Amino acid sequence: MISPFLDRSRIAYFSMEIALATDIPTYSGGLGILAGDTLRSAADLRLPLVGVTLASRHGYFRQEIDAEGRQIEHRDPWDPAARTQLLRARVAVPIAGREVWIGGWLYDLKSHLGGSVPVILLDTELPENDPADREITHRLYGGDEDYRLKQEIVLGIGGVRMLQGLGFHVRGYHMNEGHSALLAVELLRRLRHYRRRRTDEPGIDLPGVRSLCSFTTHTPVEAGHDRFDWALVQFMLGDYFEVEALKPLGGIAHLNMTQLALSLSDFINGVARRHGEVSRRMFPGYEVHTVTNGVHPRTWAAPSFAALYDEHIPGWCHEPELLNRVEQIADDRIWNAHAEAKRSLIERVKSRCGVTLDPERPIIGFARRMTAYKRPALLFSDIERLRTISRRYPFQLVLAGKAHPRDGPGKQAIEDIHRVIRTLDGTVPSAFVPDYDMAIALDLVAGSDVWLNTPLRPLEASGTSGMKAAFNGVPQFSVLDGWWVEGCIDGVTGWSIGDSQESRNGDDAASFYQRFEQDVLPRFYGERSSWIALMKGAIGKNASYFNSHRMLRRYAIEAYLR
Ligand SMILES: *Cc1c(COP(=O)(O)O)cnc(C)c1O
Repeated sequence: MISPFLDRSRIAYFSMEIALATDIPTYSGGLGILAGDTLRSAADLRLPLVGVTLASRHGYFRQEIDAEGRQIEHRDPWDPAARTQLLRARVAVPIAGREVWIGGWLYDLKSHLGGSVPVILLDTELPENDPADREITHRLYGGDEDYRLKQEIVLGIGGVRMLQGLGFHVRGYHMNEGHSALLAVELLRRLRHYRRRRTDEPGIDLPGVRSLCSFTTHTPVEAGHDRFDWALVQFMLGDYFEVEALKPLGGIAHLNMTQLALSLSDFINGVARRHGEVSRRMFPGYEVHTVTNGVHPRTWAAPSFAALYDEHIPGWCHEPELLNRVEQIADDRIWNAHAEAKRSLIERVKSRCGVTLDPERPIIGFARRMTAYKRPALLFSDIERLRTISRRYPFQLVLAGKAHPRDGPGKQAIEDIHRVIRTLDGTVPSAFVPDYDMAIALDLVAGSDVWLNTPLRPLEASGTSGMKAAFNGVPQFSVLDGWWVEGCIDGVTGWSIGDSQESRNGDDAASFYQRFEQDVLPRFYGERSSWIALMKGAIGKNASYFNSHRMLRRYAIEAYLR
């Protein structure tokens, strides 16, 4: 079953999370969606990649909201046997003086265009392991520092060994975020082993490893960069690699996985122009490129828009650049496709939240990981103002998002949002859709009329949900951070909030209310053709560019072929 994939040499794409399908809960948010979209593009374009991730048998978590608006987390188990094929190979990695065995599952990620890409899900749930070790691949982003390091040993070291065990011919490695950086240490070991056989000089072959590795960093937020005490690393890895030799590569005080990945990669990039600039400041001395993120065309076009593009812009799934020809599509066809997507969102909100929304009034959509820098509460900083605006220009709100179980402020934000929704008491019809996932994301980005984003600059590395909205003709109304610095043409693809300097909360809130009342809503209630021009601006100028085909083609040419 694996043999058809062994005919070509491949780029191994490592990611702690990969969103393979909405009902396979091996992802938590943007990073996993991006990994999934990258591999979906590889399948569409028939580029030889192989994905490597953890099985995450207990998923991330399923979100329930209680009567007080508090998040309740449930395990979200899935059965790999039901969705993937068992692989017979077994490899072992050293953890705390034991051998931990790793098995694998094969998910054959198929493109509707005929290509496919293998994804290997690593799994320690094996009878030969101690009960505690069986759990290493259970919980995505769960557990403490020890647990995380064990996961990263399995992903990085175990992943390289599993690919070799299965017979893959790997010509390069791509680390999607620093979690998998130990893969490069395994390569150091491997190259040293080859050398030993040829010369007496073991040494560390940095150029050899670097030439094989590419690294994408994804966040300027400190908590996004894993750090481990060297004593813990020493304890976990034992004599696998001399810790002293790793310190110059991974950090003197701690093992910083980002620094390790930076030291061991020849190609390094941030995920939007602004994020590249910020990363160059964060990591002086490294050459940091920029490859702006994108989203997968077919996955993020609602059925009504996919059908419309199929009819008028054949070939868009292979070459989404063609969407810049959206002018060929009649206004009423765009409007009808949107109305259909909006109906689907309204039905979802009715069945999930019991809230009835009006299809004639604009829906403002806001869905993201609920965490402080995303500032989910900015929209609600002046409730009276919202009420006043809504008397003149009625509007409706739909929100969604999970907070990490240990993110106190994020969970508080969810509670606060629910309190505000109760306070508004229908004057602004509002709903919070629980358990944000890929399916809800598609309904939301396509069914909203305006997509809102209010992060604290410059902390949004890229953001991708606004790109998904663009595929459905939904303009974004956002703070100028992440990809929006490149994507915003004011009044043409959407609108900006504030300026592009570092955020000052009060200023952004004032700008939000002012532009919402004076630019966004009047345009919606004005000439229909003017609004549709905006929808076409989002499709023709943004979906045509901010897609994962363009992104992966750039990785292929600039990173993989270098
Ligand atoms: C796209 C997506 C995200 C990431 O969106 P951002 O704009 O980066 O916040 C997170 N979760 C889900 C379910 C998504 O579909």
